[in-house]
Amino acid sequence: MDDARRNLPSIERIVAALVDVALPHDLVVAAARTAVDHARTSIAAGRAVTADDVIAAARVAATATREALLGRVVNATGVLLHTNLGRAALGASALAAIGDSAGASNLEYHLTTGTRGSRHDHAGHLLASAVGAEAGMVVNNNAAAVLLVLAALARDREVVVSRGELVEIGGGFRVPDVLRESGARLIEVGTTNRTRAVDFAGATSDRTAMLLRVHASNYRMIGFTEQPTISDLAAIGPPVVVDAGSGLLDATTPWLDHVPTWLGDEPGIRQCIADGAALVTFSGDKLLGGPQAGVIVGRADLVAACARHPLARALRADKLTLAALQATVLAYLDRDVVAQIPLWRAATTPLTTLRARAESIAAGIEGAKVVDTEAATGGGSLPGSTIPSVGIAIAVDDPDAGLAELRARRIVALVRDDAIVADLRSVDPDDDIALGDALAALARAR
Ligand SMILES: *Cc1c(COP(=O)(O)O)cnc(C)c1O
Repeated sequence: MDDARRNLPSIERIVAALVDVALPHDLVVAAARTAVDHARTSIAAGRAVTADDVIAAARVAATATREALLGRVVNATGVLLHTNLGRAALGASALAAIGDSAGASNLEYHLTTGTRGSRHDHAGHLLASAVGAEAGMVVNNNAAAVLLVLAALARDREVVVSRGELVEIGGGFRVPDVLRESGARLIEVGTTNRTRAVDFAGATSDRTAMLLRVHASNYRMIGFTEQPTISDLAAIGPPVVVDAGSGLLDATTPWLDHVPTWLGDEPGIRQCIADGAALVTFSGDKLLGGPQAGVIVGRADLVAACARHPLARALRADKLTLAALQATVLAYLDRDVVAQIPLWRAATTPLTTLRARAESIAAGIEGAKVVDTEAATGGGSLPGSTIPSVGIAIAVDDPDAGLAELRARRIVALVRDDAIVADLRSVDPDDDIALGDALAALARAR
C-alpha cells in the first residue's frame, strides 16, 4: 500500500500533464490535489490506481472547474427569458453602451455645470419619459425595487394587499416576507379568488401607507375571479403601488405592427401610470429585454423619497447596468425595438424564417427532423402563454445522455417524446452553425 502511495504522480507532474487546460495555475493545482487525495482513499480501500488514472481524474476535475466558469451558452430551450440562463440577452447597442461607459463616465456628474449629478438622471429619467411618469430610478432588481418602495414609504405603517396577490414570485421572493422585512404591516383584504375595491376602501385608514397590487406574473387564476382595477383603487385615496413584474412598457406595443396574441392581457407600465398608479416597479430583464435591474417609476415626490432612503445606496445599480438599460430605453424611444432588443426580435421572428433556418441546419444531419414546437417568454412572465415555434429533433436512445453531450458544448436543449429538440426561437441566428455542428455530432454518435 505504501508503495502504491509512493508511486502516485507528484502534483508538479500532474500540473505539467494538464498544460493544455486553460485555467490559472492555482486552480489546476487544486484539481491535481483533489485527484491525488481521491487516489489515496482508493488505495487505502485496496483498489489499484495508476499514475494515468490520477492524471485523467485531475483532468476531469480541472475541466469541470473550467466549464463551471461563467460564460456564454446557446439557449435552445425555446424559453426566451430563461432565469437560469441569465434572462434577457443584450443586443449590440446595449453591449456597445456598456463598453462605452466602462471607463470614466458622467455617472453622477453634470457635464454642463461641472457639478455633482445623480445616477438616476440617465436610464431612470428616460424610463419615466417612456411611460409618461414624472420620475424614475433604477436599483439592482425588481425584488430590491419592491423592498425599497415599502421601506421608504410604509415602514411602521400599513400596506393593504388582496389575499389573491400574496404570492411567491420565485426564488424565495414572497410578498408577505418582503413586507415584513421592510417594516411595513400587512393588511390582507378580500379572498383568494375575489377582492373588490370596497374591501380596500374598508381597510383604509390614516395608518395606511399604500394600496399594493402585485401582478400575478408567474401563475394564472381562472374562473370565478375578480380584482379591482387600478383606477378603482386610485379613487380610494392612498397611493396605489403596482409591482408589475415583467416590464411591458406599453400594452399597445407601438414598436410592433400589432399587439401579439401571446401577450394576452399583460398590463403595460404606461397604462398603470395612466390609470392612476402612484408608483410602478418592474424588472429590467424580463419583457423590457434589458439588463438585470429593478425600475421604479411614478410620482416625483415618492421616487425622491425612495432615492433618499439609506437602502437605496445598498440596492443601487452599477454604471454598466445603467448604460445597458439606457441603450434599451433609447431603442424603445426610437421605436427600434425589434432590431435592437434580442427578446423582441426572437419573439416576433416569423415562423417561416425559423423554419428556413431549421431546414438549413437539419439538411446536413442524418435523421434530423424539423418539428413544430411551442416557445414561451418564461422568466416568470406570461404564464400559460406560448409562441408557435420550430425546432430540430434528433431521436436518441438515451435522451439524458444526449442533453449532457450538448451541455458539454455549452448548448442547452430539451427532450420531447424521447428525442432531443433544439427550439430555434431562443437561438441567436449567429449560433446556428455551432448548434448544427453539435447536433450533427450527436446524430453521428447515436
Ligand atoms: C419577477 C418579479 C419580481 C422579481 O423581480 P426580479 O427582477 O427578478 O428581482 C417581483 N415581482 C413580480 C410581480 C415579478 O414578476
